[in-house]
Amino acid sequence: MQECIFCKIINKEQKADIVYEGEKIIAFKDINPSAPVHILIVPKKHIKSIIELKKEDASLIKDLIWRAKEIAKEKGLDKSGYKLVFNCGKGAGQVVDHIHLHLLGGWSNGSSKNIKV
Ligand code: AMP
Ligand code: ZN
Repeated sequence: MQECIFCKIINKEQKADIVYEGEKIIAFKDINPSAPVHILIVPKKHIKSIIELKKEDASLIKDLIWRAKEIAKEKGLDKSGYKLVFNCGKGAGQVVDHIHLHLLGGWSNGSSKNIKV
């Protein structure tokens, strides 16, 4: 039994609102959004966090950022700006132990200042 919620989403054992799926990466809407647009970009490989990331997997991070950029463009966020956030470890607020990049945007009038992810 797979315990990781994001692995369950990747394996289609758990529903999610998927906005992108490729060979190595999946992206879906955050279930508890902190912004008008809040998408999680996730490698299909289970790696706990950036803290545990090995050098041989480091290029995955580049792929996540590139995908976030492409999704942001699709959603029109490139016009208004967006945030990309990795929470690395419990002390930084990471609750799901599977690397994910938060893409946050869609605010009007600077309401992005006090967001928490
Ligand atoms: P973090 O605090 O960086 O570990 O972020 C984990 C994020 O995953 C939070 O923003 C949660 O709202 C989100 N989340 C948890 N479970 C699900 C789920 N089943 N589908 C979509 N997002 C989820
Ligand atoms: Zn996982």
